[in-house]
Amino acid sequence: MIVHLNKSIDKAKAEELGRQYEAICLHDGKQYVLVTSSKVKEADATLKTASEEVYVTDSDIQLASKQYISNTRSIDLGVTQIGGKSANTVVITGPCSVESEEQIEQSAKLCVELGVKVLRAGAYKPRTSPYTFQGLGLEGLKLLDKMRSKYGLKIITEVRDSTHVDEVIEYADIVQIGAKAMYDQGILRKCGKSNKSILIKRGFGSTLQEFVQSAEFVLSSGNPNVMLCERGIRTFETKTRFTLDLCGVAWLKQYTNLPVILDPSHAIGYAYGVADLSRACVAMGIDGLLIETHPNPKVAKSDAEQQLDFGQFRALYSSIGAVAAAVGRKIV
Ligand code: PEP
Ligand code: MN
Repeated sequence: MIVHLNKSIDKAKAEELGRQYEAICLHDGKQYVLVTSSKVKEADATLKTASEEVYVTDSDIQLASKQYISNTRSIDLGVTQIGGKSANTVVITGPCSVESEEQIEQSAKLCVELGVKVLRAGAYKPRTSPYTFQGLGLEGLKLLDKMRSKYGLKIITEVRDSTHVDEVIEYADIVQIGAKAMYDQGILRKCGKSNKSILIKRGFGSTLQEFVQSAEFVLSSGNPNVMLCERGIRTFETKTRFTLDLCGVAWLKQYTNLPVILDPSHAIGYAYGVADLSRACVAMGIDGLLIETHPNPKVAKSDAEQQLDFGQFRALYSSIGAVAAAVGRKIV
């Protein structure tokens, strides 16, 4: 249950009520808000007197639920808006990893050429082997920072673990919490205390309930700027890297108030299918599309097989505008 307390209630009183009702207490910019377990279905007399509005939800998907906020939340990136009433499908592209200044600068220039506003690249890579490229770390973040100042791009980069979460929050415009980090409550809570936009990728073995509850950790820590990213889940199929769960996307759009971003690159794992999948994703009426591109995918230090070269990306990019228009959206 979510309780909007009367605006006259101060911090001390709100926290006292929070303790009394075993609720999380946060301030949403307008008033103090208590969030109890969803098992609580009714406010008692004391709480009723103290509250302005009470929202009951079916499950612990609460702050992210359409039962709480009936529209998709809006995330203001300055250069553009994600979600809300914008009808934008925001394209995000760049390499899997920052590898060198030359490589990331070529990627930044591709964004500028096409009008793409958000550059992606990982500096701390969550690899499945300790013997492969692990990312440039802080040096990578500094290169991304340089691209932001030089080309006016927004930067999304991922946090791998809690040892560098503060660093990533400092450098990123959007903090990506990867599929493997989705359950890390240290990361989730730290991101919840920041005012940066947060993109959470679905763990490949996570149910939709678990996925959205990860977002609840960030939202209930006080950060309302959260997006969800479907990037493929593990099924019995082995021909493709993962299976893109478009049914799940329909569910997220129907039942949650968070913007939904799709990442077909990690889902299929091979460049040949990324363009077709991207068009399918855009046709779902999504808030954003995340595609991996590399100036020379063959020599990429991570996810080489799935990254598009710039020619492939230009062709894909020129094809999605019509698909977006067909579902009442525009590519931004
Ligand atoms: C990535 O975006 O490069 C990445 C590692 O993604 P995921 O966490 O979805 O595997
Ligand atoms: Mn990758």
